[in-house]
Amino acid sequence: MVSRVIPVDPFDLVLFGATGDLAKRKILPGLFHRFEVGQMPPEARIIGSARTEMDAEAFRQSTKDAIEEFTPDSPNRAKTLAAFLERLDYVTVDVSSDQGWQDLAQVLRPDVVRAFYLSVGPSLFADIAGRLHECGLATPDSRIVVEKPFGRDLASARALNEGLRACFEEHQIYRIDHYLGKETVQNLMALRFANSLFEPLWNATHVDHVQITVAESIGIDGRGAYYDQSGAMRDMVQNHLVQLLCLTAMEPPSKFTPNAVRDEKVKVIEALDPVEPADIARGQYRADTGGDSYRDHVGNSSSSTESFIAMKVSVANWRWSGTPFYLRTGKRLRARESEIAVVFRDPPHTIFPNVGRLRGNVLVIRLQPDEGITLRTTIKDPGPGGLRLSEVSLDMSFADALGADVRQQDAYERLVMDVIRGDQTLFMRGDEVEAAWAWVDPIIRNWEETGDQPAAYDPGSSGPEEALMLMHRDGRRWRHIGG
Ligand code: NAP
Repeated sequence: MVSRVIPVDPFDLVLFGATGDLAKRKILPGLFHRFEVGQMPPEARIIGSARTEMDAEAFRQSTKDAIEEFTPDSPNRAKTLAAFLERLDYVTVDVSSDQGWQDLAQVLRPDVVRAFYLSVGPSLFADIAGRLHECGLATPDSRIVVEKPFGRDLASARALNEGLRACFEEHQIYRIDHYLGKETVQNLMALRFANSLFEPLWNATHVDHVQITVAESIGIDGRGAYYDQSGAMRDMVQNHLVQLLCLTAMEPPSKFTPNAVRDEKVKVIEALDPVEPADIARGQYRADTGGDSYRDHVGNSSSSTESFIAMKVSVANWRWSGTPFYLRTGKRLRARESEIAVVFRDPPHTIFPNVGRLRGNVLVIRLQPDEGITLRTTIKDPGPGGLRLSEVSLDMSFADALGADVRQQDAYERLVMDVIRGDQTLFMRGDEVEAAWAWVDPIIRNWEETGDQPAAYDPGSSGPEEALMLMHRDGRRWRHIGG
């Protein structure tokens, strides 16, 4: 099956931080892919910007190098890449000073969609928004895109929202959570709301519990200073895992519009019960043979920041009362694996002799590494000689179901085109981010006040013993990480 490509309107996309890591690894390659498939109109332009002095030609060369490094080769790539690079321009701007803004004003066109992508550190977000406003570069229809992290607590997120809203309307602000751009995450909404099979079962009567796992096999890798100030709770739970929880738990929106979807997500966050310390397991990876510990990686021998967290969360509403959501995420775990597993209740009675306890169905939405959906079912073992049962999975990998040539879009390329289209459905609204911080803040404050220390765990494991106990004491088990 060939996916349909709907071209977007002509645009000027200003990429602040164009010389940075994210721009090179994700944003520019993503834009190139959209160009390759024909979604970008001939009038589209990408204007890179940073403090580094260079001309447009040098920026084209560095973008060419990045795309060659970070995208797979294809027979026509050289030709397509040459055409893509013609769309690129570059303007040197130090966003903390007056330098460069007038040069930027000169290259922008009045009659096309205007988007400003802030791929820079969050301390620069409000400055850039202010300067865009003062210099008259932000038109009423301009869009501004901001990267994570969006604050480090409720107060800083509020201040950031105020800074952005002083210059832009909420409908112009696109707060990125790249998990929302993942194909499978959106498929979760399609699965729930485009099929009649699942929704009647999607509640506490039929669902025993939900497990959301985002496991990484890598450690901190060069981000030590940032990560040690942040930890798994701020870096992963407040944004990505809460978003996955929202999409799993939310009520059906009345329509698929940005505010209808985001209204339902906010209701889920507001329904989250405060989490008791006993329902949280924090961990920090220790050294293994030949490998450094978390503390070595961040260069802080007394760090009490968590590189792992597991927690039991209750959504206090009619649909989910009595059905816990278990969340877990961590670094240096056994495998890189992310999934949402909806574990249905066991059949209430078995008519089959000698088969033991029948286990409930499990619907698994896999986010990575191989995006797809699996439903664990129980069937009869083939052959004569009595009735024996086996568990098998109905496995729907996207590549098999939709044709082997379907390339999975990277989350960034989808999201950046949504910005140009003016579709905020997959972006976090200001009140949503604040609600998530309001839920997370007291948990972190409690750790700080009590001097809570994370438990050590072995690299390559599935986290500390305490996380296993979180499930065991409820008579449940985590799904295995790593196949
Ligand atoms: P980075 O590699 O440090 O790049 C920062 C960029 O900002 C560089 O292009 C730098 O260019 C520019 N910059 C810094 N100060 C500036 C100033 N005063 N005026 C103009 N430009 C300035 O950072 P990154 O990893 O790309 O991350 C960018 C943003 O994305 C951050 O908010 C980060 O949290 C977020 N993010 C990154 C990743 C990732 O995988 N990298 C993932 C998720 C979110 P010059 O030095 O030339 O000015």
